[in-house]
Amino acid sequence: MSKKYHDIRESAYEANMQLPKLGLVLFTFGNVSAADREERVFAIKPSGVPYEKLSPKKMVIVDFDGNIIDGDLRPSSDTKTHAVLYKHWENINGIVHTHSTYATAWAQTQRDIPIFGTTHADHLTVDVPCAPPMDDEMIKGDYEYETGFQIMNCFKEKGLSYEDVEMVLVGNHAPFTWGKTADKAVYNSAVLESVAQMAYLTEQINPSAPRLKDALIKKHFERKHGPNSYYGQ
Ligand SMILES: [Zn+2]
Repeated sequence: MSKKYHDIRESAYEANMQLPKLGLVLFTFGNVSAADREERVFAIKPSGVPYEKLSPKKMVIVDFDGNIIDGDLRPSSDTKTHAVLYKHWENINGIVHTHSTYATAWAQTQRDIPIFGTTHADHLTVDVPCAPPMDDEMIKGDYEYETGFQIMNCFKEKGLSYEDVEMVLVGNHAPFTWGKTADKAVYNSAVLESVAQMAYLTEQINPSAPRLKDALIKKHFERKHGPNSYYGQ
């Protein structure tokens, strides 16, 4: 086992262990990876291992083309999706996939999550995008690899930047989130689940609830981001 990958194994392990604590996964569902940009590899959860049996050394090291570089176990079945995103989106160092209940419910409706409130606007200024289900040819092909392109195509079509919008719903499947670190990607998964739950309740209470108005979207986003942010310490 190479010492070289110690740091990303630790980060990936710690971040994976957050998922059950945050109530974002059941059983062995879900996976987090952490990348080392210099080595062009990432550490990812092994496939089908319960969270309580994980350890840093069980994290599998994979390159950005999806080849296993180091580790004794088979990597998560979603590994190729992570590899595609790392390869094409150069400023992300962590990716999370869960089937968290509310975000997955929205994915199953194939709808973007409308920006209804300031909790949403604190994190992104647009609806949470939902990538349409992939066509049959892609499904029959290299499915997990194509899921990466399904996500990137959605961002291209909607004119979104992966640095501004760190989350997506994969239609009929579930969410993926990412960030500059694995921890930030986990944080984004928890925020997404909360925003998805609030949006669901909003539509239950008022099916024609209006979207947040532009002035509030801008105000809330800029409080936390940008040159004049003043949220936090
Ligand atoms: Zn999945």
